[in-house]
Amino acid sequence: MIIIKNKTELNDILNIDKDAGSSIGFVPTMGALHQGHLTLLQQAIDENDKCVCSIFVNPTQFNNPEDLKNYPHDLIRDSKMLESIGCDYLFVPDVAEMYPKNEDKIIFDFGELEKVMEGADRPGHFQGVATIVKKLLEIIDPDKAYFGKKDYQQLMIIKSLKEQYRLKTEIIACDIVREIDGLAMSSRNQRLNALQRTQAPIIYRTLKNTQDLCSKLTVDELKDYVKTEINSNDMMDLVYFEITNPDTLLPIIKWNGANSFMGFIVVNMGDIRLIDNISLVRN
Ligand code: AMP
Repeated sequence: MIIIKNKTELNDILNIDKDAGSSIGFVPTMGALHQGHLTLLQQAIDENDKCVCSIFVNPTQFNNPEDLKNYPHDLIRDSKMLESIGCDYLFVPDVAEMYPKNEDKIIFDFGELEKVMEGADRPGHFQGVATIVKKLLEIIDPDKAYFGKKDYQQLMIIKSLKEQYRLKTEIIACDIVREIDGLAMSSRNQRLNALQRTQAPIIYRTLKNTQDLCSKLTVDELKDYVKTEINSNDMMDLVYFEITNPDTLLPIIKWNGANSFMGFIVVNMGDIRLIDNISLVRN
């Protein structure tokens, strides 16, 4: 695996591959890799001739400086994992490489998509995500880029980015990878202490129950159920549980004629923010 810090160098190397007719798959990450990331990478390796992974903890998408400071890093471990699964290139730019001085800042318009849930709760977050993903897609110009449904709203933002800027890269959505006890894998899970880790699977267990309960309860009752389940645990604080239209992600307040919805949850365990989502089908 070749490790590259400079965008021009990466672009030059990839141009040689592209000229030779190789297809390029790309997985952007913030590092502290786990099996969730590796599943995306394995798909990228299987479906393309060459695979690029980027590791960049993007400061502009952190609205909370403490969260940025505490974000886990382990580049040596990450590169060994990537090497062992057969990733071809690891791109590890520094902040100055991705954000040169005096560069104009793009203001993106994602309409309602960035006004709800993570957009409302983390001001500026999706502007930061779109800024970095656009830059990475322009440098690498891959045939396919892989994103996890764990960050479902982010995935919808990136699909909108692709449409708005007519990017040729195909955006591939990958299922959520979970621990055996159901907890969605996340780099942030590393920061849970042993006791918090035993309680964290309650999040998915509660979400799972909403799949059955959504046909029996009103929207308000279902939200109350989730709130009570989560907040009755001393170690957890529910930030929000929203039920939305699966395409627009606009929260609904009453069941309408549709039968397909999404449930989105965010829970704080101490200063660790855990997110998850589930598809809900009413019958
Ligand atoms: P991150 O390093 O958290 O920015 O994540 C990089 C990519 O991996 C994003 O597209 C995430 O949605 C995806 N990802 C992270 N955790 C999971 C997971 N448990 N299952 C599937 N995809 C994931």
